[in-house]
Amino acid sequence: MVGALGASTVDVRRPEDLADCDGLIIPGGESTAIAKLMALYGLYDAIRAHHAQGMALFGTCAGAILLASKIEGALPDQVPLGLMDVTIKRNAYGRQIASFETLLPFEGADGGEVRAVFIRAPRFAEWGANVKVLSTHNGEPVALREGRLLAVAFHPELTSDTRVHKYFLENVVGTQVI
Ligand code: GLN
Repeated sequence: MVGALGASTVDVRRPEDLADCDGLIIPGGESTAIAKLMALYGLYDAIRAHHAQGMALFGTCAGAILLASKIEGALPDQVPLGLMDVTIKRNAYGRQIASFETLLPFEGADGGEVRAVFIRAPRFAEWGANVKVLSTHNGEPVALREGRLLAVAFHPELTSDTRVHKYFLENVVGTQVI
């Protein structure tokens, strides 16, 4: 998605991979497994340090869980990065069978709707006064922005619509896109 918008990309597996990154996307998947690998490779401190020096972060689904200050339903050893002033509840829509797709208004999409794929998605339970809601589903926030942090409960990368990533690059990272 990022490459399609003309930005260069690198896979991040170790702290040194972050050296040239203006922005980091933590993808969906399984937040317990991602947390284990982040701890094993020393990525918690590295990500926090790079963010403190200006690196923007975008978390989709499991990635959003890891950005939060507090996780409801975390495994005992599952620690969030604690960067975004939100409480997030894992698997809050139910099991895999409750996964769904829908169209949602998204503030950064020029007033248009984006197709949103929710897969065992989390729900944002609480958010601080400095957190801006960019999209809602049934009145609940599903895309949130706080400074150089963007968290969405769904998977914008599973569609061909690049507008959520474009919003991240242009407005959160602050870079030019095609
Ligand atoms: N349920 C997963 C978790 O708690 C997130 C699912 C996803 O990223 N699609 O980590």
